[in-house]
Amino acid sequence: ATHLKEKAEAEAREAAAKAECAALSEQLEALKQRAVAQEELRRQMAETIHEVCARAQFWRNSGAILAQFSDGPPSPLQLKGNIRVFCRVRPPATEEDEAVSCIEGAAEDTALEVAGPKGGSTRFQFDHVFSGAASQGDVYDEVTHLVQSAMDGHNVCVFAYGQTGSGKTYTMDGPRGNEAPELRGVVPRAAAQVFASAKELGTLGWTFSFKASCVEVYNEELRDLLGGKGETKLKIQDSGGTVSIPGLKQVDVTDSASLQKMLDFAAKNRATTATQSNDTSSRSHLVFRLYLSGENPKTGKTTESELNLIDLAGCERVKQSGVKGIAFEEAKAINKSLSALGDVICALASRAKHKPFRNSKLTHLLANSLSGSSKTLMFVNVAPGSKHYSETVSALRFAAKVNDCVPGK
Ligand code: ADP
Ligand code: MG
Repeated sequence: ATHLKEKAEAEAREAAAKAECAALSEQLEALKQRAVAQEELRRQMAETIHEVCARAQFWRNSGAILAQFSDGPPSPLQLKGNIRVFCRVRPPATEEDEAVSCIEGAAEDTALEVAGPKGGSTRFQFDHVFSGAASQGDVYDEVTHLVQSAMDGHNVCVFAYGQTGSGKTYTMDGPRGNEAPELRGVVPRAAAQVFASAKELGTLGWTFSFKASCVEVYNEELRDLLGGKGETKLKIQDSGGTVSIPGLKQVDVTDSASLQKMLDFAAKNRATTATQSNDTSSRSHLVFRLYLSGENPKTGKTTESELNLIDLAGCERVKQSGVKGIAFEEAKAINKSLSALGDVICALASRAKHKPFRNSKLTHLLANSLSGSSKTLMFVNVAPGSKHYSETVSALRFAAKVNDCVPGK
């Protein structure tokens, strides 16, 4: 009898456990559906904010828009639309003095001052200024939402602009030969973010796939850094405003490790033409592009976008006297492409009818990624030393001009 009683009790427990399990799975399904709905809502809200910001850009200098925000005026950042300019000052090297100072000294200010060699100083204002004390993580905190935007389907371009030695490659990639995770730059962090985000969105029914390409723009020629020997030169095809690059190699990337392998391959493939400065990587632009495509059969939504991370050629001006041959050609090509980039960004910010994408290979290559609902961030990297005064001021002036492009200017 005890045996029977125990059996009955066990059966009852099993039935109760089954019922609980069924209830939990029902709850889980409901939670999943809610999460899908919330993700949808988050996307819609991101779209709305994007729209509002784009419109607000027209009203940047107008008090009218301020009245529409019930909880105080929005920060200039919110009013700026889709183009941001951040300045990053590299920490001083050994025996380097500091002529560049961030105002108020905090790592996240928006203004900086450059002391002139004969006294006086010049002040510049950007959306964000990172002092030499800012870590790679501090910098990425201001980039992460752009990468999220790329996951949401916006094209994104992040540029590093500045003279050679100012910290462009450090910002984009991290220090050469140092694998410490906290020192990683924008590229590896963005890669980690998209893979993690894809995994997370997977639980909500999204499937993402990623491809990558790597192009070097050197002397107004495009080279496929992922192509084999002999077939690496690329041509841009432009039909009806849509730019494509036939033959550009796109490699499937599934995780940070496969992406790193691809980047290592591209780095080995980079131009090795000798110049006076010897460092040819500083004389060419490097465009790393990630193609993101996602679909969600549960909601029928799909997204396609391109995330471009660009380490620009050094913007230092070459004195025309004394520079001949290849170095002069390089300097001319760099100058042409950087000024075209400034003009294109300005045309986009001011919503000019004509956008001069075709004025350089760099801007032509990026035409799709810069137009439409795209988002653009430019880092202007500067060295702190007084020795670099004139290059620093020239780079900051270029960036300030980009930063100040507003409708009607
Ligand atoms: P660029 O690519 O503009 O020529 P690099 O990124 O190569 O300049 O930087 C020049 C040097 O300064 C490198 O040795 C780099 O490691 C160092 N450096 C640049 N930025 C930082 C930083 N924020 N913190 C520490 N070291 C930096
Ligand atoms: Mg570099």
